Amino acid sequence: MIVYACSTNPGKLREFVLAGQESGLRELVLEPLPRLQTIPTPSEEGATFEENAFTKAVYYSRFTRELTIADDSGLEVAALREAPGVYSARYAGPNATDAANNELLLRNLQNVADRRARFVCVLALARAGHVLTTFRGVAEGRILNAPRGDCGFGYDPLFFYPPLNCTFAELTLDEKFAVSHRGNAFRKLFAYLAELHHENTAISDKIE
Ligand code: IMP
Repeated sequence: MIVYACSTNPGKLREFVLAGQESGLRELVLEPLPRLQTIPTPSEEGATFEENAFTKAVYYSRFTRELTIADDSGLEVAALREAPGVYSARYAGPNATDAANNELLLRNLQNVADRRARFVCVLALARAGHVLTTFRGVAEGRILNAPRGDCGFGYDPLFFYPPLNCTFAELTLDEKFAVSHRGNAFRKLFAYLAELHHENTAISDKIE
């Protein structure tokens, strides 16, 4: 069973590829959609992670006959009424860099005592323009006053994860995947695919 992962974010793609290696499913090949960089990116106008993941998965699934996954993810900060949320990638403006987004987040949280935050990832699984299902994963943590660590991407250096007493940027790819929002969403996807395989369900039956 081949599943194509679609994202133009190199940080996410690295985690998608790792997910393929860690699925534990012998029958699964998970890899980036071929020639992904030549496909124009879909617009992300949705108000929820689910809507955006849905739109992206449907869009990319039209470029292949295989199962396709896309995710929408972001950071929800309690004191900012769950912002930046679906605007996480462009918090500091269109085409904002990770550094600019992190700087703005720190500025908006200056002198704010409540630092609670959560990462959310919604994965949508699609085929031939139809979404089969979505999976939501979360990771709860808090925002530091200054970045820590050189790994990961996006808000990882500011996201402190209490159970491991470090930021996501201080974890290896595998360590982060074991506890992250994306890892949690993928584990749900793998359980679904394993079940599908177990039941020997024809995917095409599910689409109708
Ligand atoms: P998307 O491509 O619209 O889903 O953008 C998601 C944005 O949320 C990214 O550009 C990051 O800013 C942020 N984000 C999502 N997942 C992570 C993560 O695992 N670590 C750090 N930042 C993340």
